[in-house]
Amino acid sequence: MTKLTTLGWLVAILCCAGLTIFAPSFADDKSPLAPAAPAAAEDARPLESIRGRIVWWGEALKRRHGIVSDADAMKSLIALETPAGELIPLVKDARGRGFSIDPRLHKFDYELLVRRFPGVAAAQVVRVYTFHDGKKYEFDYWCDICAIPMYELKDCECCQGEIRFRERLMGPNGPGAERNPGEAR
Ligand SMILES: [Zn+2]
Repeated sequence: MTKLTTLGWLVAILCCAGLTIFAPSFADDKSPLAPAAPAAAEDARPLESIRGRIVWWGEALKRRHGIVSDADAMKSLIALETPAGELIPLVKDARGRGFSIDPRLHKFDYELLVRRFPGVAAAQVVRVYTFHDGKKYEFDYWCDICAIPMYELKDCECCQGEIRFRERLMGPNGPGAERNPGEAR
């Protein structure tokens, strides 16, 4: 037991020493934890705007076409349902993920700025706009303390506090005044 404890301390000390030695090289390098920049070709791909409502893919298939998926697939994939009835699956990534986390997001009318890929049915969300009374708002989540935007419902990634909806009215020069700041939704 004593021997094991000593060994444990030895490992801990060696680990700390190792971290200290290697810390400067992490700082110098581009952090391996930083999000990878999209490939240049991907950035150059034209963006597309699509309108619609957020739905669960499995539920929409059942409602529109009577297709019954497995129970575990009913709420496994998010899609945009266009006014024409097209179902466009949305890639679950940093921008698409939020739709599967916050059910309040399923009640809005949207315009999504997306990236499409040849031969791929799914669209990748780049920017999210909501519509209220015919007016277009840029949507994100916001921490009032840290003043940073986020794209999914969670504790603030900086202060761990609560974040809230932020919808800013779109004007000719981009987003402007906020819609109903602080309103419970
Ligand atoms: Zn914060």
